[in-house]
Amino acid sequence: MRLNSIKLSGFKSFADSTVFQLPGQRVGVVGPNGCGKSNIMDAVRWVLGESKASELRGESMQDVIFNGSNTRKPASRASVELVFDNSLARAGGAWNQFSEIAVKRVLTRDGTSSYFINNQVVRRKDVQDVFLGTGLGPRAYAIIGQGTISRIIESKPEELRLFLEEAAGVSKYKERRRETENR
Ligand code: ATP
Ligand code: MG
Repeated sequence: MRLNSIKLSGFKSFADSTVFQLPGQRVGVVGPNGCGKSNIMDAVRWVLGESKASELRGESMQDVIFNGSNTRKPASRASVELVFDNSLARAGGAWNQFSEIAVKRVLTRDGTSSYFINNQVVRRKDVQDVFLGTGLGPRAYAIIGQGTISRIIESKPEELRLFLEEAAGVSKYKERRRETENR
């Protein structure tokens, strides 16, 4: 699955609706310190289901909502949408029939978090099912951030095994078995 575009609105420093198109195989983001480069990757991990504020460099989850500036009011909600090309049919679950999959997460100031796939309301789990076995997830290996390499090297055997199972494509079967056993 290929990430074609990222659309942010009210997310961290992106007060206005901002769309990043990602053409080609390699895209660089450059800019001065504090201009919001890392916020873009925080946005990607957030949509994929990251639920720990500290992983997004905040204290509470509401810290992802644009909190205003000298000239602008704080935003009432944060919204991020990722549009994936799925023409190779690599997604998990029923959404695999679509050649394009748009995954969106919205958080309002009162703490309501909602997820959408192709504009239909879904659960967080449905979003995770789309990516299970693709290597893409809030903490999966498709996103190598600062500190990820040392996190992998220093991980306990059980944690390392989770990375290997994801790479081998075993994790989605384990998840299905777990669901069946819990029924
Ligand atoms: P560096 O080159 O230092 O790594 P960067 O381009 O990665 O910088 P980021 O860490 O993405 O920068 O952005 C930090 C900026 O985002 C800070 O200026 C911070 O004030 C702003 N920011 C973070 N959260 C919010 C928020 N909720 N509302 C408004 N601005 C925010
Ligand atoms: Mg940075």
